Amino acid sequence: MKALTWHAPRDVRVGEVDPPHLVDPLDVVIRITTTAICGSDLHIYRGRIPGILPGTVIGHEYVGVVEEVGPGVRRFKKGDRVGGAFRTACGACWYCRRRLYTHCENSMIFGYGLFFGSLQGTQAEYARIPFADTTLFRVPPEVTDEQAVFVGDTLGTAFFAAEIGEVQPGDIVAVVGCGPVGLLTQMVAYTYGAAKVVAVDRIPTRLAFAERIGCIPVNIDREDPLAVVNRLTGGRGADVVIEAVGTEVALTLATRLVRPGGVLAVIGVFAEETFPFPIREAFLKGMTVRHGLANVHAYMEEALAMILHGRLDPSSLITHTLPLEEAPQGYLLFDRGEALKVILKT
Ligand SMILES: [Zn+2]
Ligand SMILES: [Zn+2]
Repeated sequence: MKALTWHAPRDVRVGEVDPPHLVDPLDVVIRITTTAICGSDLHIYRGRIPGILPGTVIGHEYVGVVEEVGPGVRRFKKGDRVGGAFRTACGACWYCRRRLYTHCENSMIFGYGLFFGSLQGTQAEYARIPFADTTLFRVPPEVTDEQAVFVGDTLGTAFFAAEIGEVQPGDIVAVVGCGPVGLLTQMVAYTYGAAKVVAVDRIPTRLAFAERIGCIPVNIDREDPLAVVNRLTGGRGADVVIEAVGTEVALTLATRLVRPGGVLAVIGVFAEETFPFPIREAFLKGMTVRHGLANVHAYMEEALAMILHGRLDPSSLITHTLPLEEAPQGYLLFDRGEALKVILKT
């Protein structure tokens, strides 16, 4: 089958690889119809993720049709149209029983290498989906592939961010970062009743998108986000700040924007082991800080319902739709900040 494989930093190729097979009774194999490039695929592309062997199929956002079904799978049958989470969850371990799917003792991340279960990715014609009953969701006929492909990762993460940020009706929310996850978080914050969302970035096209969905855009190269937030809040600071970048600079800025007693939700992916954090400011403000890899399985149904009822449309983020063969070009554009969301069709 055709698939995109990683070879070295900024060297990804499309070629022939062995197709996947059922390995475990709880597996299904799906034929991918739509897959996408995620911001966390860029970490691999740029060589920031250890444990990716040359030749690994990467990618973890997907929609497809069930082709083969393991004998232990209960919820799905051949021909079902499905999407799924970026990582598997067994549904049975101590963590899964408490809906903390991120920490599933048997979890693997699609296309993320040795330290995440060595599971092949989904930028391919077929993919093996372990623990299908928990990992997958059924796509309603009214929901397009281009909408459903966001649910198991970027959009689920946006719901997770709003949830751990405790966004309440009337809140002033600031989101640091206007990549796909940042922009979706802004949309979700409005569905949770935020009064105003301040959107911080430095890429003009992304800020323009944020403005179109009702945010106050702040270009960090031209304006001080703290001054904007203070103006909106009588100098208090934002009720909720969501960090959606994953750098020391962004985290420090996010901390500065939170009001005393407010909440900082950190969903950016950090690869560094350690770096300085403005702990005195966080301490004096008594802010709540929550963070972590998104518990997306807990929000997939809610995200689907929001799409189904027309409350938000993640597919509005798509700037490029390419055939899988042209995936390397998609990575190039995304890496340069010229594409917001790249969709790949098999
Ligand atoms: Zn991702
Ligand atoms: Zn589990």
